[in-house]
Amino acid sequence: MTLKIFQKGFNYSQDGQGNRLVYHLQGCNMSCMWCANPEGMKMDGVIYTDKDWIEDALCPKGAVKEGELDRMICGRCTDRECLSVKHRSKGIRLSCEERTVDEVYEEIVRSRPMFYDGGGVTFTGGEATMQFEPLKSLLIRLKEVGIHTAVETNGSHPGLPKLFPYIDQLIMDCKHWDGEKHKKYTGVSIETVLCNLKAAARDHGRVDIRIPLIGGVNDSEEDMEKFVSLFQTLGGSGVTFEILKYHEFGKNKWKQCGWTYKMDESAHVTLEQIRHFKELIQSCGLNYKKS
Ligand code: SF4
Repeated sequence: MTLKIFQKGFNYSQDGQGNRLVYHLQGCNMSCMWCANPEGMKMDGVIYTDKDWIEDALCPKGAVKEGELDRMICGRCTDRECLSVKHRSKGIRLSCEERTVDEVYEEIVRSRPMFYDGGGVTFTGGEATMQFEPLKSLLIRLKEVGIHTAVETNGSHPGLPKLFPYIDQLIMDCKHWDGEKHKKYTGVSIETVLCNLKAAARDHGRVDIRIPLIGGVNDSEEDMEKFVSLFQTLGGSGVTFEILKYHEFGKNKWKQCGWTYKMDESAHVTLEQIRHFKELIQSCGLNYKKS
């Protein structure tokens, strides 16, 4: 069994408690235009370029001219010689690499001394549950040896509750309260997400719900009130909420994938909006994650 991974690294307390080894798993079923990790969207990865390293000679098919990759030529290329050992480079590469579950497990166990302050391992994406079976197998093995596990998910996989027993900290996105808009902005129906949010609040002891606040998408007064009404129906004493402010850190990555970044200035939200939304959440007795 293998896992496709597009990014890996340690961070402190950003993707779960303590110091953590974070794996970004390739593939996502959603298509959010504000995504900060677009290179993780496609299941099979994407040809990813780096302007500081790309050279015309890197493509044997002549698809690179003056440091720009012609994606029309690239899209028709079947042998992808640029990815072979002979041509492999930082200038043109596949966004992800494939590793066996055993390799990843051993790497995590070896990293154990680094998991201080209650840390451990986090699987995020892309959408981590898109690689459901290898993820499940790894989580079970990590649970057996007592390594703290966290999963960050958009909550749309119907089988997510089956993973609950093997996840110590569950981090779930809630991108919209409205079914039509959820579908419009993510490409995915809200029903399973709502079911999983309810199941997680009811059956899992540690759930952090995150709301990415995006101007013009989900940041109106009505949106905030409806989000809070939805959260009130969830219950669960182990549930926290956190608002994530829109940022455009991933903007350049869209270009590196050969795609257009479609968000504009109107997507930015103000600190005043964040403060107001946070107060609304807290005023209803819900537990806000950060003070
Ligand atoms: S996939 Fe690689 S070898 Fe093929 S056209 Fe694109 S850059 Fe060139």
